[in-house]
This record gives sequence, structure tokens and C-alpha cells, in this order.
Amino acid sequence: MNGEIWVVVERKEDGVRRVCREALGRAAALGGEAVAVVPGGDPDEAAAAVAPYAKRVLAVAHPLLDDGDAETWAAVLAELIAVRRPAAVLGGATARCRGVFARLSARLGCGYAADVTGLDVTPGGRLRAVRPVLGGRAYATLEFRGPTPDLATVRPGAFPAPAAGLAGTVERVTPATGALTARVRFAGRLPLEAGPVDLAEADVIVAGGRGLRGPEGFRLVEDLAAAFGAAVGASRACVDAGWRDHSCQVGKSGRTVSPKLYVALGISGAVHHRMGMDSARTVVAINNDPNAPFFKHADYGIAGDLFELAPALAAEVRKAKGE
Ligand SMILES: Cc1cc2nc3c(=O)[nH]c(=O)nc-3n(C[C@H](O)[C@H](O)[C@H](O)COP(=O)(O)OP(=O)(O)OC[C@H]3O[C@@H](n4cnc5c(N)ncnc54)[C@H](O)[C@@H]3O)c2cc1C
Repeated sequence: MNGEIWVVVERKEDGVRRVCREALGRAAALGGEAVAVVPGGDPDEAAAAVAPYAKRVLAVAHPLLDDGDAETWAAVLAELIAVRRPAAVLGGATARCRGVFARLSARLGCGYAADVTGLDVTPGGRLRAVRPVLGGRAYATLEFRGPTPDLATVRPGAFPAPAAGLAGTVERVTPATGALTARVRFAGRLPLEAGPVDLAEADVIVAGGRGLRGPEGFRLVEDLAAAFGAAVGASRACVDAGWRDHSCQVGKSGRTVSPKLYVALGISGAVHHRMGMDSARTVVAINNDPNAPFFKHADYGIAGDLFELAPALAAEVRKAKGE
């Protein structure tokens, strides 16, 4: 691809969101010049966190960017894009970047492919994106027309994350947007109920459904998750019943996850749930109904009572890990 491919980088306490590293790796593979663009935060810290994964870093400093408000990020990025004219801009398919990219698309009149799982370049030098449609039952290939840059957000886990090893040059950028104001105020952060492992970045997820019979049933899920070092997910039935916080919900109206291993305990496997986890590499379903729909979509199905099987599985995992 000719020209620069920007990757909008979201940072977290201990570095860079994995999906942003994955997008940087894919951008580098597409040819052109991959540039990490880091809105907000201390520019020196941004440089230290991102430079190992990019040849060039634009650290964009403005106090209103620090809270991650999508509207403010979009305003500043649109201004930078109009001046520097990258060929494409990528980001993670996270709640924040989806908000940012939809706004960029509207502001710049450019095409936007959301939640993509494949990216390459057309003979004409534009992006070609693949994304799941119809609840993951089909894939659509999208090509861009009209004004550039081509905009895409990348599904977590769709591309391998590159190892640290670069030492990107860092350019500090101060946005010219003098009259920038934020319409929302950042009030504070709340810990996610999913536990110490972030659901979006987890390699292993243990998720529970209505088969757990109540909030106390989630102790089994948490114990198995602790044995694996996994994050905890939930079906919507559990969230609607108030057993679990919405931040744990996997599915169409919840989070999209792409772990290496997804263990479903007492979840029927409705299409709305599967839409959030159909790119998991290996799926294990435990259900006492041998006709549960999940069994048709799981790599390993165990027909039995989760109240017996989950503790037994946790014990086996701990034994295998020598704990
Ligand atoms: C617009 C829309 C959006 C939606 N979005 C989502 C979403 O984001 N995420 C989501 O999850 N759902 C979503 N849903 C709801 C979805 O369609 C299902 O209703 C929901 O996923 C069912 O949750 P469940 O599998 O936990 O419950 P159930 O369907 O009640 O399944 C419980 C399962 O537990 C099994 N079970 C019971 N006891 C045991 C036991 N002792 N041992 C083992 N297994 C046992 C049962 O056999 C059953 O299969 C959405 C629906 C709509 C209409």
C-alpha cells in the first residue's frame, strides 16, 4: 500500500492494548509505512509504551484527550488526517475506537469497515476488509471507494500480535484545535466484574449461563477461571437476572471476544450469544441437555451436570499445572 497506514493506539495501565499491537502488526504487513498514533497521556510515557511496536510514533498531546472521550479524539484525529493525509487508519474494534471511527467516517466522508477479521490491499492500492455478517454465519468482503483514508477497526484476536523489538522514532504533535471542548466529563473508573483478566484480551474465558441457577453458581465459574488464569464471561440471561454485571456479557448486545479457549458452562448456545465468541479458537461446552445447540458449534462437548463437571475440571487443570 502506498502512503502511511496509521494505527490509533489505546493505552492501558501496563502498556498498549493487545488489539492495537495486533493492528500495528497487520499494518506493517500491508506495506506502506505503519505509524502508531497515540492520543492523550504523557507523550514520553506514550513513546516508551508504543515505540517497541512501531517504526514511527505520533504522540498527540492535549489535556482533553487524556480521558479518552470519542468525540474529542475524533475531532483531533480528523484535523491531523486532513493535514497529513494517511492512506488508511486502523484501530481496535473496542467500544472507544468504534465511537471514534464512526465519527471520523462522518466527518471526513470516508468509508469505514467495523470489526474486521481480514485485511489486505487491492491492486488499486486501497484496503480490502473482511468482516463477519449475519451473526457470524457469513463473511463479507468490502472494498473502499471515494475519499481516503480507508478506515477500519480490527476485531481483537484476528491477527497475531508482533513481539516488541522496534525502536520507533517519536514525533510529538500538539493539535491546532484551540477551541476544543469536551461535552462529557470523565468522572472515574470502576473495576470490571470480569476479574483481574480483561475479557477482551483474555486467552482463556470461562463463561456461565442460566444453568448455574443463581449468582452463587458463578463461584464455580470463578474457580475454574482461577485454575486456568482465565477471565469470566456470562450469558445475557445471567446479566438480565442481575447475577452478573453487564461488563461480563458476551454476545450480540455484549462483548465480542476471541480467546484461544472458551469454556461455556450451562449456556444453551443461542445465536445471540455465539455472535460474541464465534472467533474463539477452541470451544468447550458443558450442558446437561445432549441436544443443546452449543454442542453443534463446540469443538468439545461434555453432556453432564456442570455442578459435578466444573469442580472436577478445575481440579484436573490445577493438577496438570502442578498446583
Ligand atoms: C436482540 C437480542 C440480543 C441478545 N444478545 C445477547 C447477548 O449479547 N448475549 C447472550 O448471551 N444472549 C443474548 N441474547 C439472548 C439469547 O438469545 C439467549 O436468550 C441467551 O443467550 C440465553 O442464555 P443462557 O444460555 O444462559 O440461558 P438458557 O437458554 O436458559 O440456557 C441454559 C442452559 O443451561 C443448561 N443447564 C441447565 N442446568 C444445567 C446443569 N446442571 N448442568 C449443565 N447445563 C445445565 C440448559 O440445558 C440450557 O441449555 C439476545 C437476545 C436478543 C433478542
